This record gives sequence, C-alpha cells and structure tokens, in this order.
Amino acid sequence: MNTSTATTPSPLRIVRHADVLVTMDAARREIRDGAVVMQGPAIAWVGETAQLPAVYLDALREGRAEAIDMHGHVVMPGLVNTHHHMYQSLTRAVPEAQDAELFGWLTNLYLLWARLTPEMIRVSTQTAMAELMLSGCTTTSDHLYLFPNGSRLDDSIEAADAMGMRFHAARGSMSVGRSAGGLPPDEVVETEEAILRDSERLIDRWHDASRHSMRRIVLAPCSPFSVSRDLMRLSAELARERGVSLHTHLAENDNDVAYSREKFGMTPAEYAEDLGWVGRDVWHAHCVKLDEAGIALFGRTGTGVAHCPCSNMRLASGIAPIGTMRRAGVPVGLGVDGSASNDGAHMLGEARQAMLLQRVGYGPAAMTAREALEIATLGGAQVLGRDDIGSIAPGMSADIVAFDMRGVAHAGAGHDPVAALVFCTPASVSLSVIGGTVRIRNGEFTGLELSPLLARHRDLAHTLYEAARHPHTAA
Ligand SMILES: [Zn+2]
Repeated sequence: MNTSTATTPSPLRIVRHADVLVTMDAARREIRDGAVVMQGPAIAWVGETAQLPAVYLDALREGRAEAIDMHGHVVMPGLVNTHHHMYQSLTRAVPEAQDAELFGWLTNLYLLWARLTPEMIRVSTQTAMAELMLSGCTTTSDHLYLFPNGSRLDDSIEAADAMGMRFHAARGSMSVGRSAGGLPPDEVVETEEAILRDSERLIDRWHDASRHSMRRIVLAPCSPFSVSRDLMRLSAELARERGVSLHTHLAENDNDVAYSREKFGMTPAEYAEDLGWVGRDVWHAHCVKLDEAGIALFGRTGTGVAHCPCSNMRLASGIAPIGTMRRAGVPVGLGVDGSASNDGAHMLGEARQAMLLQRVGYGPAAMTAREALEIATLGGAQVLGRDDIGSIAPGMSADIVAFDMRGVAHAGAGHDPVAALVFCTPASVSLSVIGGTVRIRNGEFTGLELSPLLARHRDLAHTLYEAARHPHTAA
C-alpha cells in the first residue's frame, strides 16, 4: 500500500512577472509585475514579484515549486459562466433554426434534441468545456433539461471531471408537453415524480458543498412554459432542504412575459416570488424583460441574473437593463447560453458583448471594460453562491487564467492592457489553472487530445442532424 500521499506536500506553483495581475480583490488592485503563489487547490500569496517572500524563493531554488513566467501577459481570475446548454454544441447553425425567435426556434430544435444519446451528452459537454476553457472560463454551470434515450446528468458530470473544470451541474427538467398545453413535444418530457427522485439521487451522489468544491448540483426546471407550478414549488422546497441552488429561465422576451400573464395572471417576477423562486440561492437566465418591480424584488432578495447578451441578440430578445439591475443590488453574472442560440461560446467575448450591448441601449458610459470583467468574474461567483472564486486573493481557489498581449489583436493597446482584453478581439488563453492544476499551458491542453474529441463531435452532430431530417430511416 502506498502511504506516502498523506505526507506529500501540496504542489506549489508560482506565477510571476505578469505584466499586470488583475486581482478583483476588495480594492480591485491591478498589480504591475505581479505574482501569485498557489498551494494545492488554493491561493497562498499575491503581490509584486519583487516582494515574493523568502520561503517561496527558497522553494523555487530548491526545486520544490514550479515557476510559471508570465512576461507579456495579463493574469486574472478565471471567468465564471452562469448559463449554458452544452449539448447544443451538436446543433449549431442548424439552418431551420437560424432566423427564428425563441418559441419558433425551440419548436424546430426539440425534434433534434429528442434523439440525443448518453455519448452525445458526454462528447458535447467535453467539447463545450474545451471551448470555454480556451476562452478563459474556469467555472461553469450547465443546464441540461432533456434526458432522452437513457441520458443522465451523470454523463455531463463525468465529462466535467475528465476536463477538470469547476462545475455547477443544473438538473433541468420539462414536465408539461404539448398535449398538456406546454411547448415541448410529449416525448421529451418526464413525470414530476421521476424528476424529483432523480434530483435527490444526484444530490446524494455528487453534490459537494465544501470550500473549493469542484462540483455542485443545482435544481433547474427548464422554464415556466415547460413545467408545472407544482414542480417549481417542490423543487424549491427540495433545494432548500438539501442546501442546493435553484436556476431557470425567466422573462426572456415579450412572448415569454405574455405567456406568464395569460397562463398565470402574473408577471414573470411575480410568478417567481409566488413559487418561492427568489433569494440568494436562486438565479434566473436572461431577465431581458424584468420590469421595474421585478428588478426591485430581485435586488431586495439578492436573486441573481445570468445575462446572456449574444443569445439575446441572436434571438432578438432585447437588451437586458443590466445597469439598472446592478444599481438596485441585483447580482449579475454572464452566461454564453446554449450553443444553438449563441453559436460561439467565448467567455471573454461574452464580456465584450455585454459591454457593447449596454452601450447600444444606454449610451457609451453604460458599461466600462473593467465592469464587464468584474461581472464575468466576481459577478458570476456571486450568482452561483460562491465566495471562494472570482478573485485572486489568499484563501481563494487557485483558478487563474492568462492572456498573451503580444499578438496582433492587441498591437497598440499597451496603454491599458486590462481594458484591451475587452475592447480588442477576444483572445484565447495561454494559461489556465483550475484548482491549482494546470489545464492549459502555452495555449495547449495538458491532459486532452483535442483533435479526436472534435472528430467524434463532428460525427455525432452529423448523425443527429441527419436522423432528425430522415425520421423514418432506422437509427
Ligand atoms: Zn438557456
């Protein structure tokens, strides 16, 4: 038996000589020639490289620590993605769904998604995570709400484990099919007993509430137009009993609001409040059409919003009033949303779009580059209910990314490299460290062969699309 693991010290990694280290700490310090010491899964020290304590310099000299030199780079906390549907990376740019708004778009795509398999969930989740990680994301949520052909949330959780990404797996669900007045076809909905039973099983098997946790379960009925009031209420009760978060879609566009008024006689925010779906343990995707009273309610209760600017533009849903929300105290994070309504899942790109879209709606001072980065890091952490990610400070999780600023995209932007991250064409990371483990180095994954993964993903996407186009041919 190997007994050495108990006495092996946690690996020590020292990032040093970052041109700028963006901390997102309480003082929002940006440190020139910055350094970060990571010990095991957590950050141990932050400051100027010239100030590195002797104990770490000794460790470097004696070969007990790994040095990662970051000349020419901006180093910052890993970005946090608060809304996604990763399986949709199999159904990007589907011709039939390119130019529709939300309900029409969904109706076209449900037919394809009914043919998903467990392997498709696994491969698409890994592919989506690879894309996110390259774009600076280290923590992500994923909202999986259909489980055809034996698929389970476990398939995406195992994919996240293989990728080494910090993961909030949202157990989505749909229970009101077309025959009962809902939007999805009957074959992709589940019974409410089965949904709740599986939710409990998943919490028992996977949920880790501890600090630096790599995996949490979230209960996430898909949307007000695909589940019943009962399921919304029972999910909230179960979540609170077990200490897990709640997530759904809300007030995405005008039709969504009209549906809520017609079916429930309430605005989406009133409906959420009525069901117990407000509080610091709840976050809602989109909220493009959250009204004034709804914004005040969310601010008062600390209810979070996942802002998805690319998806909102793609589906012409509108411009979410992010500035008003933040002034009212609403926690706001960013989400790339599913790959079928934002066919490019680039987290730094999403921060850029958030900034640009606010300016279209509310003027050039509506959002600064630094505010966009803050929403993409600290904002996302708050929305997911975490106080251990989103900033670089002692005691925080060791989730760090670095962007090389010496390429053509950033040429001439050296006056303010931090703002350049957002103003210039979004770059890919050269370094990604998650929980103290280096996952991307020199722009390449350390433990993953990307080409075979993408080849398999290509085949599965083709199979799925062709099967839906020719439904009467045997699978
Ligand atoms: Zn969504």
